[in-house]
Amino acid sequence: MKRAVAIKRWSRRAATAAFCCLAAGALAEPLTLSLPLECEPGRSCFVQTYVAHEEQAKPRDYRCGARTYSRHDGTDFRVADIPAMRRGVNVLATAAGTVVRMRDGVSDGDVLEGQRERVRGVECGNGVVIAHGDGWETQYCHMANGSLRVGAGERVEAGAVLGKLGLSGMTEFPHLHFTVRQAGRVVDPFAFGAAEGSCGGGAFLWRPDLREALAYRERELLNFGFASAPVGMQDIEAGVEPPGHEPGALVAYVRLIGLQKGDRLRLVLRGPDDGIVADHEPDPLTSDKAQQMLFVGARRPPQGGPRGRYSAEIAVRHEGRIVLEQTFSRTF
Ligand SMILES: [Zn+2]
Repeated sequence: MKRAVAIKRWSRRAATAAFCCLAAGALAEPLTLSLPLECEPGRSCFVQTYVAHEEQAKPRDYRCGARTYSRHDGTDFRVADIPAMRRGVNVLATAAGTVVRMRDGVSDGDVLEGQRERVRGVECGNGVVIAHGDGWETQYCHMANGSLRVGAGERVEAGAVLGKLGLSGMTEFPHLHFTVRQAGRVVDPFAFGAAEGSCGGGAFLWRPDLREALAYRERELLNFGFASAPVGMQDIEAGVEPPGHEPGALVAYVRLIGLQKGDRLRLVLRGPDDGIVADHEPDPLTSDKAQQMLFVGARRPPQGGPRGRYSAEIAVRHEGRIVLEQTFSRTF
């Protein structure tokens, strides 16, 4: 009996091996990728947009979620705001290879300044293309003007600094657009070789130790803090100055990414006695939102409000269930 079982197992393994070798004929050996940015995913950088899978009427990310848009051929890694970019974030080679193309000299912030026509033909901005052999290529876009450290023909190791994250080319916020190609075709590094329409199939090309850091997150809190006046999306992107000790008003704000149609957001500001100072719960979202901000606040009495620790609580509910929750606080 035991022997029969053993033979069965062996033959199953043989079948798998045959399948594997057949597949290897059609697909190249997978490339293993390290992070393209010197950052901590989920803390100091965030995946904003995944590769678009276009089999359905609506483009979907590799998990069949909405974290993508039509014809998006790469993965966007963003930092929280422009000050984070200004502190300097290195762009890194994801695998060893040879630089086959590079471009520097494209100015930063053209699109933000309303100069869209300036990026025509240079949508990638300052960028690098690295060939890794076996038809594999990686491309890095929107790097900072004057920051590129490598030249065409140069050999680089995984983790080599290519330059700095910037705002060049077709971009409205600081992020790295990272594309992987195999034999000229775009590959989703989260789902290499996934069957059409599968939600979560295919191979994870990132280093195995990045699996948790790069786990798919439906919604993420990108920014949160306090201000002394109402804030807009551009204020958050530019970096909000925290209020002084005697602010005329006290505002709590958040910016989230990956929100879904039907999400209910609620932001509550509490005073030092834990009493509610302000409470804002807008109508549920009527569409998916790549990013969304919210603030709540109250004017302080002329003689100044109570001193102490103020806290704010953001909660996102979907179909009655809490899907994201975070509290933050500050002493005034
Ligand atoms: Zn992109």
